Amino acid sequence: MSHRIISIIDQRVATSPSLLPHVMETPTGTLNDTLARPLRDLRISVTDRCNFRCVYCMPKSTFDKNYTYLPHSDLLTFEEITRLATHFVAHGVEKIRLTGGEPLLRKNLERLIEQLARLRTPDGRDLDLTLTTNGALLAQKARSLKDAGLKRVTVSLDALDDASFKRMNDVDFPVSQVLEGIDAAQAVGLGPVKINMVVKKGVNEQEILPMARYFRDTPHILRFIEYMDVGASNGWRMDDVIPSAEVVRRIALDMPLEALDANYPGETARRWRYRQDGDGGSGEIGVISSVTGAFCGDCTRARLSTEGKLYTCLFASSGHELRALLRNGNSDAEIAGVIGQVWRARGDRYSQLRSQHLANPTDAPAKVEMSYIGG
Ligand code: SAM
Ligand code: SF4
Ligand code: SF4
Repeated sequence: MSHRIISIIDQRVATSPSLLPHVMETPTGTLNDTLARPLRDLRISVTDRCNFRCVYCMPKSTFDKNYTYLPHSDLLTFEEITRLATHFVAHGVEKIRLTGGEPLLRKNLERLIEQLARLRTPDGRDLDLTLTTNGALLAQKARSLKDAGLKRVTVSLDALDDASFKRMNDVDFPVSQVLEGIDAAQAVGLGPVKINMVVKKGVNEQEILPMARYFRDTPHILRFIEYMDVGASNGWRMDDVIPSAEVVRRIALDMPLEALDANYPGETARRWRYRQDGDGGSGEIGVISSVTGAFCGDCTRARLSTEGKLYTCLFASSGHELRALLRNGNSDAEIAGVIGQVWRARGDRYSQLRSQHLANPTDAPAKVEMSYIGG
């Protein structure tokens, strides 16, 4: 199938400043979109840069030495991020995930974590403050992240076998250093560590069973993610997707599984546990069926891009400018008002409509890259 490819830079420029009227608003802690979905999660991308070139995310063909990243002055400062996060929390956000690009590449990230860790929900609770990382710098940073107030980490790891892993990250990075990072995170209290494995057919599917066996008797929770059609640079095809049902089938042939209930309504991962009457083990796995089992009906996530645009869907083609509001001196009530208007107007459900978009690719909206918007 063909994709509409728009230069990422052109597309970033094309996302015009928010034209929404600046209506003043005092957040109430409850904000629902057009499909009655509340705003509960905020993913903040702190950098568009990465030290990996995962083939499904930042392929070298696009992200080469000529690729232009955002200049530092375009990035939200930590103070700007915290000010916006304060408004999101007042509107109902309970969970913040830092992401990127590779978030551990952002200098002094611990200072941002300290600021965010001080925020409280309207009824006085701590935020669930987490981070997704490729793990390359985790061994050296786990302690300072924990001390700054981070609660947990999710580590992306697509294979245990060095050759397969290097094929995925495309920068020759060894598995052993990521495993050290995972151990360090667990040791300092950033666990249980979730391990995310994106499964791409014909590339790392042979690693499903070794990964399941390796993490089975650890406190870590392994989650298999269907390869998604994010962005326009990864050349996604439905044929490259291994459905979660097939992942579960392959594991269960070797290690019997039983379904677990969701931890909370709207949990994206479907949970499974190794059966006690199998050959021992008590670990849990999850599958995230972003392609074959859309969960838009429960999607409560907003995304804040590196340069301060608000995206209401991972597959959105444009974002709403918030940085200009901060830098133009708009009031807190006006900023809260813009966020409120954007969320109330939200009707995104790309994954539920994916088959229509795939059938009519020329009508489908262009999409921003995941490394820019934050995974
Ligand atoms: N660099 C960090 C990392 O890799 O964990 C954080 C950013 S990364 C964009 C966030 C998550 O998105 C990772 O778990 C990654 O595997 C996932 N991801 C990226 N591209 C994807 C795709 N095409 N399909 C499914 N997941 C993808
Ligand atoms: Fe970098 Fe994460 Fe994307 Fe891999 S998935 S290229 S580590 S941002
Ligand atoms: Fe949420 Fe958009 Fe993903 Fe649906 S496609 S689950 S609305 S981010």
